[in-house]
Amino acid sequence: MIYLDHAAATPVSKKVFEAMKPYFSDDFFNPSAAYLPAKKVSSDYEAAKGVIAHAIGAKANDIVITAGATEANNLAFSILDGKVLYLATEHDSVRKVAEKHGGTPIDVDKNGRIVLDDLRAKINDDVVLISVALANNELGTIQPLSEVAAIIREVRLDRLSRGVKTPLYLHSDASQALNLLNVNVARLGVDLLTLNSAKVYGPKGVGCLYVSHDVKLKPISLGGGQENGLRSGTENVPGVIGFAKAVEEASAHMNGNRKKYAEFRKILLAELQGYELVNKKHSLDNFVVLCYNGIDAERLVFLLEEKGVYVSTGAACAANKGTKSHVLAAIGLSDSEINGSLRLTLGETNDEKQIHEAARLINEAVEVERGRNG
Ligand code: PLP
Repeated sequence: MIYLDHAAATPVSKKVFEAMKPYFSDDFFNPSAAYLPAKKVSSDYEAAKGVIAHAIGAKANDIVITAGATEANNLAFSILDGKVLYLATEHDSVRKVAEKHGGTPIDVDKNGRIVLDDLRAKINDDVVLISVALANNELGTIQPLSEVAAIIREVRLDRLSRGVKTPLYLHSDASQALNLLNVNVARLGVDLLTLNSAKVYGPKGVGCLYVSHDVKLKPISLGGGQENGLRSGTENVPGVIGFAKAVEEASAHMNGNRKKYAEFRKILLAELQGYELVNKKHSLDNFVVLCYNGIDAERLVFLLEEKGVYVSTGAACAANKGTKSHVLAAIGLSDSEINGSLRLTLGETNDEKQIHEAARLINEAVEVERGRNG
């Protein structure tokens, strides 16, 4: 198998799995219980939260553990009594909830980068929340978040000077970014930040939302009052222990992985015929998104699966539903370009030999399709 779909899911690494194991059957106690073994579990859980928080320059108490990034994104929007702006290319877990609140999309350019003038034009006095993912899950495009944060600071000062009391917050979904970018909440200037364990070789169904001190959120579940009362429910101890280990591993391997993926990417671009959809200067090193105009990329995915190569046409969820990718439409691609778009996302399961082999098999599949189209 050659797996080139690491943006959809990453395998739980061996170290992560080993770290989680004791918390299933030995240290299984409810962290809220009063006896000593439970207190140990509670303290291990808090320490794990501390590790996750530390990776983004925050403290354990600043993060709310959730059942994945979807839930974290939904929690971020619980802030709302007011208007929201969101980037047109956001993941559905942001887009759908923003649409529910009557949100307005912010335009992106042909590389999927935010159009800052459009953002400026759309911020009025009713806007409370702006949501811009740090890196996009279909294109890998990295957004200039600190520039967005600078605009927000200007708007806050202007509101203050005019006596307008409406707050303005910046949320970012960093699900895809944590593997390969240094994510620091203060440097980025975000008030809310989503992380996803499932994209960093940790377990699925675990994520978190960083919440800055002045942001007041509404709980997404009521009950025992866990996670500062914002997300009640018995803690997923093994999941969070695994998430913390995965975060540690991600920082330890970040520089090496970036170099490795950049090298693999070069090989793929040299050996494959498709053209790259976005400028790689502003893209994660592990994303190679190619366009084979005139070819049905869905068919390429099936042909490649027969050869043991797993790739994707876009976000796994969009591809699954057979709907047109809103991300590729937002960067201005024609229907035929969208149909011909193939997403390869590199990761820790790959080595150089696989990359050459994948390129050979993709070229072969493209030839078959070109032949079929006559
Ligand atoms: N946000 C982004 C950018 C993603 O790539 C994903 C996963 O595909 C999610 C949110 C949702 O994550 P989950 O399905 O783990 O809740």
